[in-house]
Amino acid sequence: AKPVRLDKLLSNMGYGTRKEIDALARYQRILLGDKGFKSGSDKVTPNEDLQNRLTIDDKPVDPLPGFAVMLNKPAGVTCSRKDSGTLITELFPSRWDKRDPLLSPIGRLDKETSGLLLLTDDGQLNHRVSSPKTQTPKRYHVILDRDLNGDEDSIFAAGELMLESETKPLLPAELSALGKREAILTLHEGRYHQVRRMFAAVGNHVNALHRESIGGLTLPEDLQQGQWRIMSETDISAIF
Ligand code: URA
Repeated sequence: AKPVRLDKLLSNMGYGTRKEIDALARYQRILLGDKGFKSGSDKVTPNEDLQNRLTIDDKPVDPLPGFAVMLNKPAGVTCSRKDSGTLITELFPSRWDKRDPLLSPIGRLDKETSGLLLLTDDGQLNHRVSSPKTQTPKRYHVILDRDLNGDEDSIFAAGELMLESETKPLLPAELSALGKREAILTLHEGRYHQVRRMFAAVGNHVNALHRESIGGLTLPEDLQQGQWRIMSETDISAIF
């Protein structure tokens, strides 16, 4: 990492204007270990050491740019920034709304879908996970309104299903029944409302949808709904 100005780094992390950061620095409210700064124009290197030792008013600094989080998204919370109602951004510190680059979801989940949602400010990582070329498998737990017919697994596996108003058939997907109205569905793409529309296409209706995993990364059991955690390198490599 290249050295950058403290005021630029921290204002891009939502801690205030450069002028405000400069004031915090001059008042010794920003420390690297036990050392203060002369002014906001001092240079720092955004690396692990800085991440671990930089504090603002004695609190550890937020994640430096180039980070990812995993969220257990509750149903009823929206991924889009425009939609009315509760937004996923409200689950994170409000200063994150002022970050540049912003934390953005990697793919989306419908408002009523719960479970594993990844977010990152790293455009390359976002692309690597969500690009149609990667076909990262996404595993969903589905609760249905009606009993399964028994042929849905072969219909979904054939990779010929055409959703309404689309021109390209779906990729093969794996369905495994857990009960008459309960199943695990694994997709290798992510079209709009895909799971709900797939079941509508076979005459059923999804009552509840929960994403359990993305690639080899499964939602940790101890991550409660609405909770999130910063992803480690190990978490990130587990996806691929
Ligand atoms: N499929 C859906 O229908 N909704 C989601 O949120 C994800 C996959």
